[in-house]
Amino acid sequence: MKNKITFFFTVIAVFFSSATGFSQNSSYEIGTWEGFRTSAVTFTFDDACSNQFTVAVPIFDKYGYKGSFYPVIDWGPNWNTLKTIANKGHEIGSHSKSHPSGAMNESEMSSSKDEINRQIPGFDCNTVVYPNCVVPNKTTAAKYFIGGRICNNQVANTTPADYFEIGSIICGNQGQCNSLANFQSQLNNAKNKKGWAVFLIHEVDNGSGYSPLASSVIDQTLDHIKKNDGDFWVTTFRNAILYSKERNAAKITEVSNTANEITLNLTDNLDNATYKYPLSIRRTVPAGWTDVTALQGGKEIESSIKSGYIYFNAVPDGGTVTLTPGTPVSGFTVSTSASPETGGSVTVSPNPPANGRYEEGTTVSLTPVPSTNWEFDGWSGDASGNNMPLSIRITKNLTVTAKFKLVGDDVDNNLIKNGTFANTNDWTFSQHNNTTGTFTAVGNEGTISVTQTGTADHNVQIVQNGIPMEQGTKFRLTFDASATSSRPMSVFMQMDSDPYTSYFEQSVDLTAQKQSFSYEFEMEEATDMNGRIAFNVGTATPTVKISNVKLIRIAEIGGPAPEKVTLTFDPNGGTMQGENSISVEQGAVIGTLPTPTRNGYTFEGWIDSNNVKYTENTILTADVTVTASWKEIKDLSELTEEVSNLQEQIKVLTSETENLKLLLEDCE
Ligand SMILES: [Zn+2]
Repeated sequence: MKNKITFFFTVIAVFFSSATGFSQNSSYEIGTWEGFRTSAVTFTFDDACSNQFTVAVPIFDKYGYKGSFYPVIDWGPNWNTLKTIANKGHEIGSHSKSHPSGAMNESEMSSSKDEINRQIPGFDCNTVVYPNCVVPNKTTAAKYFIGGRICNNQVANTTPADYFEIGSIICGNQGQCNSLANFQSQLNNAKNKKGWAVFLIHEVDNGSGYSPLASSVIDQTLDHIKKNDGDFWVTTFRNAILYSKERNAAKITEVSNTANEITLNLTDNLDNATYKYPLSIRRTVPAGWTDVTALQGGKEIESSIKSGYIYFNAVPDGGTVTLTPGTPVSGFTVSTSASPETGGSVTVSPNPPANGRYEEGTTVSLTPVPSTNWEFDGWSGDASGNNMPLSIRITKNLTVTAKFKLVGDDVDNNLIKNGTFANTNDWTFSQHNNTTGTFTAVGNEGTISVTQTGTADHNVQIVQNGIPMEQGTKFRLTFDASATSSRPMSVFMQMDSDPYTSYFEQSVDLTAQKQSFSYEFEMEEATDMNGRIAFNVGTATPTVKISNVKLIRIAEIGGPAPEKVTLTFDPNGGTMQGENSISVEQGAVIGTLPTPTRNGYTFEGWIDSNNVKYTENTILTADVTVTASWKEIKDLSELTEEVSNLQEQIKVLTSETENLKLLLEDCE
């Protein structure tokens, strides 16, 4: 592979097509060097001679190129200077601790690496240049470094034969490379073999160090390179090693391919902590794509369309790459949620720009807003801890969840829909095992009649699903129930499908007298956001009536029982179906109210003695009686008579008008 002219990776991509089911090949190429440049060029500087930093670095900065600098620890390099240039992207590597005359031993390697990492926090020293070019034990060197430099005056191959003997060209008045012409000659060698020219520089201009090189030659050489940018990738010693190893180890698998999106995985078998330099990749442009947006792991990566190819730079094992046609969109989204949803919400400040995306580097402040009876219980997702508010600097799309916990009973949020049986909506009646029966809603009571019993309670049942049941959450289930005569019934909170795992179950004995039942339990099974409640009545015939079914989250089991208040209805001349009063938890909303009827009147609502209208959302704090408000419907026969009188008057007026017209004509 290393002698091939270009690295050309053919990748088998499987295209799923429901119409034909065929598969076809597609090809991706990984650039031999970054940006599909022909060769790589590295400038290494040994011994930390002072002119390297005062003279050479400013020239590199002028062209935007980075070099690799190798101080000797015991020679007391200026760490502030090294830290400053490291932060600008230059490399700092090991040139031993004491510059021994022979081969570096393990201590020279480890102590020099450790000291560089200690002096330059966040920097990972991982290349070495051997003092006096003496190759040490390479197995030992490989414990600390990804590659080492020798001095053979040769341009390295596209893939160096040995990463711990990477050749270099000695520069300056003691070396073979001392003029622009010398550099151009070596650069041509690199270009012709698609290889890697590593230059070894010590002193610059008139410093006191070894083998000085004129800064004017450095300037002219970098200028020549800049003018031939497609031929030469100027990079650090470290980055060229990373790139060539990753390029040889990388595999591309196209995962999906549609007109509007291509996804692929770029993987290698190298250590992701070190080998995370982006590789330059291209593929042919799909038909109709004129622009491209590339994301890796959800974050935008560099991409472009040029000469029939999509180009992008991606990191091996850095997440799935997605290519979509269209102008790249800058910025990132912040999505927030509350868990559980009823526990509260999250505000984000500042508000996002009109396109919903914050520019990279924006700091946003997230504030949890608990609902009544809930409190904030920490962040999850792309955030953790419990800062309130939480400041996050945006560098990618963020998904953050605020967790909330109950501190009081959540009396306002009945998790059961239509628990007062205004009709049969939201409930499903089911019969199994040759049973027969009916389910109706009469006077705010779910009424189940069984005519043919089965062998099990659940043979006849009413159920409701879609009930969120989070693990660890505590619930109180309450309902009222009676039967035409004594009989059993069972109630379950359970999984909605086979195996119908039970989260709570209770058998109750019903009597003709309506009873209120109340149970508290904790959800111990895994969270089920589609839990269901079932009332099972399949083993006896007496008709069952169920009302006021309520399931709420509670702060603690066995906590204070909810106070009940009574709402009494005065139909005020009308007729009620069902009870004339209901019992409601103090502080909770009433829920569905009955609708009375009265001949010749329209029901306008329930009002109290202060003329305040009561609705299903009114909160009750004490016993109260409400009175039906009626509007009389006017008798239709009276209206009919009025209409015919008016019609007669119109007739008279019309004929009078005609007469007046005739009189006017006579006058003319
Ligand atoms: Zn040296």
